Amino acid sequence: MEYRSLGRSGLKVSALSFGAWVTFGKQIGDPVAKKLLHTAYDAGVNFFDNAEAYADGKAELVMGDILKKSSWRRSSYLVSSKVFFGWEDDKPNQVGLSRKHIVEACHDALKRLQVDTLDLYYCHRPDPSTPIEESARAMHDLIVQGKVLYWGTSEWSAAQLTEAFAVCDRLGLHAPVTEQPQYNLLHRTRVEKEYATLYKARGLGTTIWSPLASGLLTGKYNDGVPAGSRLDTPGMEWLRDAVLGKGSKPKLAAVKKFAAIAKDLDTTLPRLGLAWCLKNPHVSTVILGASRAEQLVENLGALDVVSRLTPAVLKKINAISAAVAE
Ligand code: NDP
Repeated sequence: MEYRSLGRSGLKVSALSFGAWVTFGKQIGDPVAKKLLHTAYDAGVNFFDNAEAYADGKAELVMGDILKKSSWRRSSYLVSSKVFFGWEDDKPNQVGLSRKHIVEACHDALKRLQVDTLDLYYCHRPDPSTPIEESARAMHDLIVQGKVLYWGTSEWSAAQLTEAFAVCDRLGLHAPVTEQPQYNLLHRTRVEKEYATLYKARGLGTTIWSPLASGLLTGKYNDGVPAGSRLDTPGMEWLRDAVLGKGSKPKLAAVKKFAAIAKDLDTTLPRLGLAWCLKNPHVSTVILGASRAEQLVENLGALDVVSRLTPAVLKKINAISAAVAE
């Protein structure tokens, strides 16, 4: 495993990490979740990503139970939670980024995950109804109390991040160290263009999500929706519409072209897509998702493919990607 600094912080994250969205507490049984987490840890993965909203808190319960029963030293791994969407209900103070919800959600996540500290705690989306100063202060206070070590954001605009940094500078608060944006061969603009100045000015780290576009970049949806796949999972119809709905035809055509390049490189399509993400020096860690151990083992092999992405290969990939990527 390769380890990278999370932005300008001293924290080292494995270049490939592992997340619980859709799978833990929902799509897969607990024994599979255990197998996945152990497979990841044994391969050197040191960061496990979670959120209050994943399976309405159940994903954290499942992960917490596995962590508790493992023999892993707490210092050997990082675990995150994210606040915004809520997990109990959607009463006014059970969602969003108010001080009340940020603090209560942190306490709930610590209990579910059965840890004393969240290594990373994210504002899962921006909350236009709460001043950034209030959210930043709440995050800072949790850090001072030792309940959180580092905080970050997810899918905040560059303008919102710039405001957060300015507030933290002005008030002497702990500033965010990382963003968690979507990044893959079909979704590039925010990571490559919008945040460009923030890498330089603030050393922003990125823990990127959906590196395989929820599976689209494995080729599994080329001829429809396989039974038991994420886009076949009850409750994920909205995602199926987003991934395979209007405008997906050119993307599916691009996926087939990426597959041909993968074949030329003597690798697989998922490994190519993940290696391409790893190649970006502004990516601190690529968060993997998997519903089966075989997928995870395959995806962990992406690290070996990075060196095959020569400038000539990248040029070919980027030409296909640029024509269709958001
Ligand atoms: P991916 O885009 O890699 O999608 C993962 C899914 O694709 C798997 O669950 C599996 O679904 C399928 N898949 C993965 N590898 C293979 C393979 N080799 N062969 C066939 N199918 C494969 O990542 P995620 O969307 O899961 O995102 C990763 C993590 O990022 C999440 O777990 C979460 O922690 C985080 N995240 C954060 C978000 C945010 O807003 N901050 C939003 C979304 C995710 P299946 O087998 O069911 O088809």
